Amino acid sequence: MLKIGSHVSISKGLLGAAQEAHSYGANTFMVYTGAPQNTKRSPIEKLKVPEAHAFMEANHISDIVVHAPYIINLASYKEDTYQLAKEFLTLELDRTAKLGSKYLVLHPGSYTESTYEHGIERIASALNDVLTDEIVPTICLETMAGKGREIGRSFEELRDILCRVELSDKIGVCFDTCHTHDSGYDIINHFDGVLDEFDRLLGLDKLKVFHINGSLNLRGSKKDRHANLGAEDENPRGRDYIGLEALYAIAHHPIADNKPLILETPWLDGKTNLYKEEIAYLRGNTCEFFK
Ligand code: FE
Ligand code: FE
Ligand code: ZN
Repeated sequence: MLKIGSHVSISKGLLGAAQEAHSYGANTFMVYTGAPQNTKRSPIEKLKVPEAHAFMEANHISDIVVHAPYIINLASYKEDTYQLAKEFLTLELDRTAKLGSKYLVLHPGSYTESTYEHGIERIASALNDVLTDEIVPTICLETMAGKGREIGRSFEELRDILCRVELSDKIGVCFDTCHTHDSGYDIINHFDGVLDEFDRLLGLDKLKVFHINGSLNLRGSKKDRHANLGAEDENPRGRDYIGLEALYAIAHHPIADNKPLILETPWLDGKTNLYKEEIAYLRGNTCEFFK
């Protein structure tokens, strides 16, 4: 089954998030537990979690995903940043479980003024500190575009982390189509080959979540700027260099079956997004927008 949704807001609680997802025709969704740039979080009791789950069950929404905030940098060489990252990741894992989600998507981290090797060691030892047998959600390390000094721009880099984590069965991967394309993988013409490489280095059983996004740039650009699916030059947010055909093929590939596919495509302005149209397109329903 195609399980498709988008990033939605949790500002009106988990119930509001589920209702927003439903309005787009989604059967899954992703939230940040608060603003992605900070650590201010409202208490879980205020998020209408039981009401949300009743609504989700009635409307066939499942396998929801939580995204950890960007400020968590497990690769940081700075002690205060590193400690804060570990503490906040522990809280996020708890919140993810309490929201009834199995997946916490996490950017592996950035080594900034340090070295790649040091960054990898820091991430792995942080994960070894944070993970316990009791933790339920899977931390899904996201494939990154390779801008700046972010770690995770190749499957080798994710493997460098994974092979150092003791409780590695608690780690999965979130495959972002914009990021893998920007980091250089040819997901347009050789998606099966990319999956073979993923399997060889990480094992396909690690692949838990997809982020389905277009890209404003050519393959290998290392930019990380998301585009609306198949957007053409006239789109106010720019053209998509991955293209509809490739994104549709990925969404309908057997590997994506029953996994949450999450759109993080740009809003056209403060109040208009194309989630509803993009979801309808990926479901195979032709609509006005994708003529
Ligand atoms: Fe992300
Ligand atoms: Fe993403
Ligand atoms: Zn991105």
